Formats: sequence, structure tokens, C-alpha cells
Amino acid sequence: MSSNDVDVDVQGDVGVLLNNPTIQNLNIHVQDSGTQAEEQEVKRLVSALLKFCDTEGCRSQIEQVAETVYGGKVFLKLKVNELRALIDVARIVVTCRDQALNAFVESQAIPQELARICPQCGIDTWKATKLCRQCNYDLAEHDDLEHADIVEKRKFKVLIGCCGLAAILAMSAKILPSGYSMTAYIMAGMAMLFGLAAAK
Ligand SMILES: [Zn+2]
Repeated sequence: MSSNDVDVDVQGDVGVLLNNPTIQNLNIHVQDSGTQAEEQEVKRLVSALLKFCDTEGCRSQIEQVAETVYGGKVFLKLKVNELRALIDVARIVVTCRDQALNAFVESQAIPQELARICPQCGIDTWKATKLCRQCNYDLAEHDDLEHADIVEKRKFKVLIGCCGLAAILAMSAKILPSGYSMTAYIMAGMAMLFGLAAAK
């Protein structure tokens, strides 16, 4: 090294002039135009990454990747290229997750002949199971109540029909010749008894 050489040690963005007998302790500020732009870019990428993670609900997974690959999960401390890589990873994670989810939903689809619509939640469920697989509604109890309701309505219809028939027979007994009127009354009575028995 000749005496005209200047030895500068760059420490961060500050250059320190070394080993110069005439000028000592001279600090040279090294203007790094890239630093500020890089900081801005880091902030922009961190905000984009956080927004994506929070929208897709994958923040903890991406923080885990950052921790494993870059040794820390504070996004602001990462470099631009590391953040870009993390954004790519986040997109891949979400795509894979969505594909897996869709595949799972498809695998869970019930064949039409084995499915029924749950009366409570309106979603497909197994026909043969007691409870709805979505909302745990008691399908068996629902069917029992529905069946009982149908039976009651059927009994009521029979009773109404028999009463009507008995009334017609009783009225016609009044206008029939006396030989037939007794038969008509008996038949009216039988119709009433049948209706009451069926309604029990
Ligand atoms: Zn349900």
C-alpha cells in the first residue's frame, strides 16, 4: 500500500477512514440509495403478506415456515427476496389446502340412493343414520313423529267418512219404506261403530 492510498472501512452505511496520519477520525457517510427503497418494499411486501394470510387464515403456518427457513417469524425483519418467497409459499399453501378441502368434500358426498335432506339444516345426510351428520338432528324421532301424525290424520279421515255415511243412512232411513228403514238404522249404527273403532 502506497502513502497515497486511502483505506476506508464501511460499517453499515458509514465509511470510516482508517490509518491516515494527517486526518484522523473522519467519518464518511456512505449514501446507500437502495436502503430506503428496500425498506419501503419490505413494508409493502409485509403488508401484502399479512393481508393475504389474514384473509386466507394461514398466518400461523407461514410464520412457522419463516421460523424454520429464515430463523424468525417477524416478517418486518426479513429481506425483500425472503418476503417474496414467503408470499409464493403462502399462495401454494392456500391452493393445496383448498384442493385438499374440495377433494375431502367430494369424498364425503353421499350417493343419492343413500341420502336424504335433513329437515332441520336442509343439507344432505345419510338416510339410514339416527342423527343428521351436519347438525345432529334426530332423524329417527322426526320420522316417528311424522309417521304418528300421518296415522292420526288417516284415522281422522276414516272417522269423518264413517260419520258422514252414518248420517246419510240415518236420513235415508226416514224416507225408506218401513221394511228397509230398520236396516238403514242398523247400517248407520255399524258405520259409526266402525268409525269410532278405526279412530282409536
Ligand atoms: Zn341437519
